[in-house]
Amino acid sequence: MVKLNGKVAIVTGAASGMGKAIAELFAVEGAKVVVSDLNLENANKVVQGISEKGGKAIAVAANVAAEDDVQRLIDTAVDEFGSVDILVNNAGIMDNFVPAGDLTDELWEKVFAVNSTGPMRTIRKVLPIFTEKNAGVIVNIASAGGLFGSRAGAAYTASKHAVVGLTKNVGFQYAKLGVRCNAIAPGAVNTNISASLTAPNPFGAERAMAGMGINPGLGEPEDIAKVALFLASDESKFVNGTVITADAGWTAY
Ligand code: NAD
Repeated sequence: MVKLNGKVAIVTGAASGMGKAIAELFAVEGAKVVVSDLNLENANKVVQGISEKGGKAIAVAANVAAEDDVQRLIDTAVDEFGSVDILVNNAGIMDNFVPAGDLTDELWEKVFAVNSTGPMRTIRKVLPIFTEKNAGVIVNIASAGGLFGSRAGAAYTASKHAVVGLTKNVGFQYAKLGVRCNAIAPGAVNTNISASLTAPNPFGAERAMAGMGINPGLGEPEDIAKVALFLASDESKFVNGTVITADAGWTAY
């Protein structure tokens, strides 16, 4: 039996990497999926792939850092599919491993706008929908960098710690209103995000890479999608306000 039968799921950053794998798996599991991304062309390709396999999905262009886009994204999901049951905050960007001493306000604000403010805005917009029907699930893609100090630069690390705090806050405060909110902290996963490391800061990159020697292995986007499916489905109905690491054991050392 499929695990998300008839559920409406919004996945941000779903044109690539983990978001794409999550959208595809959720569709296989019976969800109607809103494939949202900055990159509409690639989002359309994901929708096409889902449709060809008999799944249901639409693409919506949205920048999670823009409030108008977030409003339109959630409104479109409701208009097209009647409601929203699952929100996956997956869109995120890296920071070229820039350490605190070299940070610019611009980089800090850009990374926070996408990684932290984006999830806050989508959550703010879906909560009235979830609380009205006393049901709804939020899955935030945090990072090992949201739990530990030097997996990336200062802005990325702080922005993902903010996601973890937001996850716990929402999970606890809305628990009695039928909402669950959890996060996944992936370790290193084989996606296109490394393409955004256009000019790695030498000092920051060396400090961030210091622990790579003990990393047992690289994950695939599908590995994270399976954890997201668990958190989005009723199989995790007693799991709330917490973070599941999916990192081959990297952070257990
Ligand atoms: P990816 O680059 O393959 O995919 C990210 C997608 O998000 C892209 O399609 C991109 O267009 C989209 N996106 C970027 N900014 C956006 C915005 N402002 N609004 C909407 N969409 C936007 O990356 P990925 O590795 O699949 O990353 C997914 C999430 O996983 C991110 O939050 C990332 O921080 C997190 N993460 C990644 C790793 C890793 O090793 N890849 C590890 C831990 C956490």
